[in-house]
Amino acid sequence: MKTLPHLLLAGLCACLAAAESTPNVIFILADDIGYGDFGCYGATKIRTPNADRLASQGLRFTDAHAPSAVCTPTRYAFMTGEYAWRKQGTGILPGIAGLIIEPGRTTVPSLLKRAGYATAVVGKWHLGLGKTPTDYNTEIKPGPLEVGFDYSWIIPATGDRTPCVWVENHRVVNLDPADPIKLDYAVQRGEPRSFVGGIPRIGEQLGGKAALWKDDLIADVLAEKSIKFIEDNQAKPFFLYLATHDIHVPRVPHSRFRGTSDAGIRGDAVHSFDWTLGRVLDTLDRLKLTDNTLVIVTSDNGGVLDTNGPTDNVNSGDGKTNNGHAHNGVLRGNKGSAYEGGTRVPFIARWPGHIRPGTSGALVSHVDMLSTLASLTRQKLAEADAPDSQDVLPALLEGKPGRTTLVEHGNVLALRSGDWKYLFVGPGAGKKNQEKAKAKGTRKPELYDLGKDLSETTNVAEQHPEVVAKMAKTLADIQAAGRSR
Ligand code: CA
Repeated sequence: MKTLPHLLLAGLCACLAAAESTPNVIFILADDIGYGDFGCYGATKIRTPNADRLASQGLRFTDAHAPSAVCTPTRYAFMTGEYAWRKQGTGILPGIAGLIIEPGRTTVPSLLKRAGYATAVVGKWHLGLGKTPTDYNTEIKPGPLEVGFDYSWIIPATGDRTPCVWVENHRVVNLDPADPIKLDYAVQRGEPRSFVGGIPRIGEQLGGKAALWKDDLIADVLAEKSIKFIEDNQAKPFFLYLATHDIHVPRVPHSRFRGTSDAGIRGDAVHSFDWTLGRVLDTLDRLKLTDNTLVIVTSDNGGVLDTNGPTDNVNSGDGKTNNGHAHNGVLRGNKGSAYEGGTRVPFIARWPGHIRPGTSGALVSHVDMLSTLASLTRQKLAEADAPDSQDVLPALLEGKPGRTTLVEHGNVLALRSGDWKYLFVGPGAGKKNQEKAKAKGTRKPELYDLGKDLSETTNVAEQHPEVVAKMAKTLADIQAAGRSR
């Protein structure tokens, strides 16, 4: 017969085991932060004490990749564990796009919800809402709540795209029914652009005046909502997906960040991001949750200096606007590119007592989070779930190597295998140039040995035809198989 002390001990052991496998999880996805933007990744003109603190207490990855070089496909791949390039309609979405994740599919939040987590998304969504064209004047669904979140407070698309309103769960916040929102996306890119709050946006917004967000308060609002969710759910395991906006255009950091960096307004926006991170870390400390919380901080794609589109310049050293700050460090290319600057991003993971502090060269990607969190919470994924998501928990917890291959996704696809990087690419940056090159048959293989040439300066395809042939076949096989897990 079990005595009371025995029962108490058994209960305590079960409790500790549960805490081991169900730590709180906070995944912070910065927008357009580049590989060189944090102090712990080499920045000197921008100061990021909170990212640096996290890195000193956790594991800093040097070969982590956003699943795509732009917003929407990265977020799709993070949520579903499927490379976005496999699915039509997962490119950068307008604010009237319907939800692109099928409700019922296993996602990061639905997986964690099954393990008893309270789940929330706070910040930039950009995965579509409702049915195209989204009606913001009614109950807006399906959306985050239909794919696994218990709570959502979101920017529907992105800061430079209408509607410029907050959506909490199924409703626009502060919407006056007498002033309904009408969106016109007849011209999605380029001119004419509309203006909301004096800032150019893609897609015209009429109505919804009382619901307009204040651009310079976005970071404050996201921090406040995140802290409230953590406070409200501190007694049970929780998952917070915090998707910040700061560095994406339009860059409107609060006045208290203006002029604080030595890298122009973009640097000031990175300071704003770091402040948000600090608020979250301080909250964990205050509530004594730090030791039982896995925090991951990363970015949805590489940095870009001025525009929303890709350019091909190395390091963008425009002294006028960023004082020579190299937002992607030594990497080639920017947001949008299949060169390393497009997808290789900062990635820091901290879980005191479980993740040994240091630096890791393991190849990992946000597309791996679904399998990795399944492994962490001891859940089995169905065969059809998460087709491209690999379990990289050993890379996080045991310092083991990560993936052996990874498909990088910019305007073209690229394959990583060890230090080799293979692309089949035409001259010039941008999607249009690549489409022209494809039509004209002027694309050529490029091969880089990143171990010796991280900046991708020297194409060695001609010296290694056997590597090119093998990698071209592997990439074609991964594409044809429809899965890579
Ligand atoms: Ca982005």
